Amino acid sequence: MITADTRVFALLGAPVSHSLSPVIQNAAAREAGVDGVYVALNTTQAELPGFIRGLSQAGGGGNITLPLKERARSVLDTPLEAVRRTGACNTFWFQDGKVIGDNTDVEGFRRALRTFLGAPPEGYRVLLLGAGGAARAVMVALLDDGASQVSVVNRSVERARSMARRIGGARARVVDGPRDWHNGDFDLVVNATSLGLGVDDPLPLQLDRLSRAGAVVDLVYGPLGTPFLRHAEGLGIRATDGKEMLVQQAAASFERWWDRPAPVEVMRSALQGSA
Ligand code: NAP
Repeated sequence: MITADTRVFALLGAPVSHSLSPVIQNAAAREAGVDGVYVALNTTQAELPGFIRGLSQAGGGGNITLPLKERARSVLDTPLEAVRRTGACNTFWFQDGKVIGDNTDVEGFRRALRTFLGAPPEGYRVLLLGAGGAARAVMVALLDDGASQVSVVNRSVERARSMARRIGGARARVVDGPRDWHNGDFDLVVNATSLGLGVDDPLPLQLDRLSRAGAVVDLVYGPLGTPFLRHAEGLGIRATDGKEMLVQQAAASFERWWDRPAPVEVMRSALQGSA
């Protein structure tokens, strides 16, 4: 039952009407028996600071999605390490009189990848497609979990260079053009571009141009998988889409807000039931 004590959480971004986060988070709250409700609010850049501060000070919090994750960082009193390293915030709440922010896309990708591989990607050579907010979270998670090299390909090469400089250090390499990655041998290929969201999008990469792709993770997700996932599987490459990362980043947010383990299995079922 919603009462005067109910904590209110919201997904802030634009557009948010398609989001499955309310379904996942409300199922988790019901299962855990915590007094909270989660909604989605279309939010502009100008409205963001007021929403973050208002929800936090009222005892709740929320998530941030496109295109506001970078802007949200500047509203926080205390950005946690993942926010400082990626420059983006996707989770906020109030603690000791301060608005705290985290980026659980890092933890979400790390947990999803470990689930998929059955182990951390230690020693892996990874081809990372994209250099936006999601790619930065992926790069932090990969390096922290022991990847030996992350090669970045992005439409805007300058953006890839800036990400590699800022996050990657000696283990990051920017790949300038197809000649540099054709025939490459990678243990893992990660699509962190938004290609695959649109029905007419081209594939982010023709995997058969590589000499080897050991496994593929597509951050994009859809009810029937994604074109890149099907392309990989058609070539006999083990692949997964972004649904598990979506669940795991939501679980990590739940744990920040409620200070208890998230009911991950229920969150997964809620997503499967509505995706
Ligand atoms: P973003 O910051 O806007 O970055 C978009 C990325 O896609 C950039 O690297 C951009 O390249 C590239 N891109 C866009 N259109 C392209 C095109 N036509 N050709 C080639 N490259 C193109 O977005 P984001 O937050 O990183 O999100 C990226 C994707 O990850 C989205 O599909 C999002 O839904 C997904 N995601 C999934 C999860 C999950 O839990 N599964 C979490 C976060 C994000 P430029 O730099 O050259 O523009």
